[in-house]
Amino acid sequence: MESEVVVSAKKLSQLVHEIISCGGSHSSEAQIVSNHLVGANLAGHDSHGVGIIPTYLNNLKKELLIPNTPVTIINDDGAFLQFDGGKGYGQRVAHEAMKKGITRCKEIGLVVMTLKNAHHIGRVGTYGEMAVDENLVSLHFVNVTDHYALVAPHRGSDARFGTNPVCFALPTGKKSEPIILDMATSKVAAGKLRVSNNAGNKLPDGLVIDSEGQPSNDPGIMFSEPKGALLPFGEHKGYGLALIAELMSGVLSGGGTIQPDNIRLDGIINTMTVILIDPARLGSLDWIKNEIDAMVNYATGSPPSDPKLPVLLPGEPERKSRTEREENGIPLDSESWSQILESAESLGVDRSFFAECG
Ligand code: NAD
Repeated sequence: MESEVVVSAKKLSQLVHEIISCGGSHSSEAQIVSNHLVGANLAGHDSHGVGIIPTYLNNLKKELLIPNTPVTIINDDGAFLQFDGGKGYGQRVAHEAMKKGITRCKEIGLVVMTLKNAHHIGRVGTYGEMAVDENLVSLHFVNVTDHYALVAPHRGSDARFGTNPVCFALPTGKKSEPIILDMATSKVAAGKLRVSNNAGNKLPDGLVIDSEGQPSNDPGIMFSEPKGALLPFGEHKGYGLALIAELMSGVLSGGGTIQPDNIRLDGIINTMTVILIDPARLGSLDWIKNEIDAMVNYATGSPPSDPKLPVLLPGEPERKSRTEREENGIPLDSESWSQILESAESLGVDRSFFAECG
């Protein structure tokens, strides 16, 4: 980063708690949102960290995000649990829905859970981590609605999808080192373009196309008109998975897809379908974990083709980042930082909060 501030996780959490509270949230909601956003920065996903606050505050002003909204259960039918997020903070309503889904899964072994109408739920891996903490396996399919499309289908020249993340989480023999594959189906998450644009960085080849459908390296094409589009990862395979995520979440939840007959108010609404499995119902948990560990050791034991770049487990980059940033602080580019401070000031957050952080 060209120019940055480095803030400790503790100070940043206090600032975010204050901003979200000034936005109208009760302290417990502000705490969940703050933990999630700072947790995303700690995990190295600045795209889903505190830099997104100005967007949230903008959506609050437009009433596309409604503070102090708990999740509502709309269908409770054994293995099927369906929730409505009521445009509340996604971090809160998804957290509440996951807690209920996990409790049910521990009772009956398998749950299909859907959540619709949640404001942006953030880093999906957070919810996979909740499942593996309880020795469950989880599969998450997410779409993005209420927003213009960002990702082009393979062979297309304009955007027709959100960045539609999927997440697959499995426990291992080491509780602190689960497998968390949590990824956008676009080559990069959209927020990473915001971070690059704010930092004035060019993009590597192959991530985006411009409004004419031609390759580009400019993150600005996503922030000016006419807009370009992100590309899916893995060509036809990523496109296929983006479509599946769109349908698994948007259709099964009842929240709808990004197809243009559905209303778009320029907010960020996520729907999520989660399949929770208690592996202990399928065999001995000890054997399952031993076998997972043996396979993980086999895969990650492959000699690296570049000795400086060892084979990693999905979820490991986030753990390494967490360890490093908890110790050394969270770097934020100066443009993102000033945008956060401007938004905070607009809500009347006391300047003393910034002074201690900056
Ligand atoms: P990414 O490309 O940085 O990582 C994707 C996955 O690959 C992670 O599980 C990571 O642990 C793993 N990984 C990375 N490097 C690896 C390596 N060398 N070996 C093995 N595994 C490796 O993530 P992304 O696709 O840019 O997504 C970033 C975040 O954005 C995710 O947390 C996602 O949930 C979130 N997101 C949310 C939304 C939303 O609408 N809420 C939309 C898109 C993305």
